[in-house]
Amino acid sequence: MSTTNTTPATDFDCDLLVIGAGSGGVRAARFAAQRGARVIIVEGGPLGGTCVNVGCIPKKLYSYAAHHGEAFEQAHGFGWEATTPRFDWAVLKARRAAEITRLNGIYDGLLKSAGATLLRGWASVADAHTVAVRPVDGAAGSSVKHCTARHILLATGGRPQKVDGPGADWALTSDDMFDLDPFPRRLVVVGGGYIACEFASIFNGLGAQVTLVHRGPRLLRGFDHEVADFVTAEIRKKGITVHLQSTIADVRRAGAVQTLRLKQRAAAADAGAPADIELEADAVLHATGRIARTDGLGLDALGIMLNPNGTVPVDPHFQTVVPSVHALGDLVGHMALTPIALGEAMLLVDHLFGDGVRRPIDYSLVPTAVFTHPNIGTVGLGEEAARERGPVRIYRSEFKPLQHTLSGSTERTLMKIVVDDVTDRVLGMHMVGADAGEVIQGFASAMQAGLTKAQLDRTIGIHPTGAEEFVTMREVARR
Ligand code: FAD
Ligand code: NDP
Repeated sequence: MSTTNTTPATDFDCDLLVIGAGSGGVRAARFAAQRGARVIIVEGGPLGGTCVNVGCIPKKLYSYAAHHGEAFEQAHGFGWEATTPRFDWAVLKARRAAEITRLNGIYDGLLKSAGATLLRGWASVADAHTVAVRPVDGAAGSSVKHCTARHILLATGGRPQKVDGPGADWALTSDDMFDLDPFPRRLVVVGGGYIACEFASIFNGLGAQVTLVHRGPRLLRGFDHEVADFVTAEIRKKGITVHLQSTIADVRRAGAVQTLRLKQRAAAADAGAPADIELEADAVLHATGRIARTDGLGLDALGIMLNPNGTVPVDPHFQTVVPSVHALGDLVGHMALTPIALGEAMLLVDHLFGDGVRRPIDYSLVPTAVFTHPNIGTVGLGEEAARERGPVRIYRSEFKPLQHTLSGSTERTLMKIVVDDVTDRVLGMHMVGADAGEVIQGFASAMQAGLTKAQLDRTIGIHPTGAEEFVTMREVARR
């Protein structure tokens, strides 16, 4: 076993103590245990962390539920006749909860079968090699357990952050949305990032009247502008009201109903938007970012000072300023995505308990999807970012997908390729359309292997699919 410490392994209770059994923590614990390390993992909440309990998985299940609403309508175009469907929120919530409980059990089984020891409780770091674990219920007289470890891994993730402003006390976060009771007939979503856009689509698809309020001029900052504008137009077509350059000026509450007054920036008002908007809501979701979960970890006393945005500083190999303490995933905030937490965990374990080689992780070609309706799938640079680096060729295709020729839906698909005009390398691939994430995943591998536009052109398509459009675009849309 390769280590970075000279104390004999047997002097510690374990080789690796992981704090947090979410995406990154469980992956690190399992992989380290499978490589023969003695592993303890501490978790105070349900196993699986954000992704399994209040993130990717329940969100995607609800997204499927929302798609079914449209599917009933669209089936008429294909000859199906049915009585008007009725959506039962209680059934969806119960079925989701049962599935998540099943996944919690699977995570437990995975840790056990790998040979890792799970301790239930909330952990803090007492010194460079010692972790204190408080029992979950924190009952008076319940004892704090101390464990020593050669390596400590902080994988405590993040938590949602509300806007500190009018109505904040009544506002909900994404954590609250999965079990909301009753179903909100009118939902206001504040924010313009992944969660705001996804939850707006989900609740709109489930039948709520949704208003999205975003402070900026465009949703999804950091994405290709044309992609963001296209998806904004598509979600508006599906019935979501989107107010850009708008913030909440005032919130009044009478019983369960909140009345919000929006303040719009001059530019939005100039563009024809009404200057003063008042709307009623049964629920207000603040989807305004997440913050690293460092509270109670004792990092200050250990000499680990946080970055200005609250994340834990690490070197390229996930080591903090304390050599025996590592950190990864949302806590360090390179990219708050599950596959990033998993990838970082595997690299760290390879380094600590594998061949000892410190490999860096490549954050430049991370594919990602936003599960709006329609979905966004994207990898590499957007047009604006690519133009900053040099001359580009842009290929784009926008069309009505085959199924919507009969479904009656007006949904359109956008596909876009950004190419380096000098080297012919594909710098970015973007899609807004059905299953865009599924389509982009494979192209991300090709881009990792150095995909050029000429190679895309030589690729034979699969017909009839939407994805084949990526290998048949020949006309340069602009340079
Ligand atoms: P987490 O998974 O958050 O795990 C941290 C764990 O540490 C938690 O279980 C917590 O209880 C535990 N913990 C914290 N403090 C302590 C302590 N002191 N002692 C013991 N245990 C502790 N990513 C995607 O890639 N695709 C998606 O579709 C997607 N959808 C998302 C939807 C939503 C609504 C949200 C909120 C996130 C979504 N994400 C998605 C992001 C993804 O969930 C996170 O990037 C990922 O879960 C981060 O993993 P992690 O291991 O860093 O932390
Ligand atoms: P994001 O950082 O993606 O978006 C936050 C949004 O809130 C931005 O639009 C931001 O505006 C806005 N905002 C921030 N502060 C304020 C404020 N004070 N007042 C008004 N608006 C504000 O965070 P999310 O919470 O949406 O998601 C967190 C992360 O979780 C994502 O970045 C992503 O990494 C991950 N995630 C991934 C998903 C996926 O893979 N499908 C799904 C869900 C989450 P501005 O742009 O102007 O800063």
